[in-house]
Amino acid sequence: MPELPEAEVVAQQLRERLLGATLSDYWVGRMDIIREGAQTLPWYKGAVLQHIERYGKSVALGFAKEQDHRYIVVELGMTGLLLFRTVQTKHPQHVHVRLSFAGAREPELHYCNPRRFGRLSLLDEKGLEQYVTRRFGCDPLRVSPDEFMRILRGRRGRLKPLLMHQQVIAGIGNIYANEILFRARLHPWRVVSRIRKATQVKLYDTIQTVLREAIADGGSSVRDFFAPDGSEGQYKRHHLAYGKEGQPCPNLCGRVIQRVQSERSSFFCPLCQSQRSSR
Ligand SMILES: [Zn+2]
Repeated sequence: MPELPEAEVVAQQLRERLLGATLSDYWVGRMDIIREGAQTLPWYKGAVLQHIERYGKSVALGFAKEQDHRYIVVELGMTGLLLFRTVQTKHPQHVHVRLSFAGAREPELHYCNPRRFGRLSLLDEKGLEQYVTRRFGCDPLRVSPDEFMRILRGRRGRLKPLLMHQQVIAGIGNIYANEILFRARLHPWRVVSRIRKATQVKLYDTIQTVLREAIADGGSSVRDFFAPDGSEGQYKRHHLAYGKEGQPCPNLCGRVIQRVQSERSSFFCPLCQSQRSSR
């Protein structure tokens, strides 16, 4: 947390309120929050925020100044937040970066991260390209069904770790992986190479539905995630499996949702998502 839908909501709000604005000033509370490119910080003063893109769970702010283009890539990590100035944070001491804007609906954007599992990178165009290729596989919302099927082909591993493997499919974390698998009725540890084509198509469609519905609902606010305007995502109310251990399966099959701890907790219905399924 945050995952793709939350990062997308962040990007949408920044687009609505900051695009076209000029960065008038900045403040960095601790320099180690900048992973790379700290020496280029002065360049950004006077640059215009021209576009905002989401890559996996990160958000890139694209600036232009004269003929140059540079980016600030914000990793939201486990606990990172981008907040407008008016939003009160529980942890004001963890606001590490403040960006001031002229000509925008919001005068300031704050980067706040209590656990510092996230960073900012200041990159030029080539740097951004390398950053994206190195870290992110296909985007689940932009990948075509054929491309997705090609990615699954020949994978000997298990399904849930693959869905969460950022260098293969970027943006899905533990919450949405559990929700997608429950809805697609697929066991988390199904062997990917043994999943039939029709089921692969269903998995693809379910990924689209779950992620798009979550974005429309403002994401899921789990563990203190807030959008830049301070709002909480409502998709948590639609979670069917994540965090539901011990509760009756929503498909009313008579079983309860199990929680199995491996690397990350998996929540699933042992009947609806049977591992022995021949699908
Ligand atoms: Zn069930």
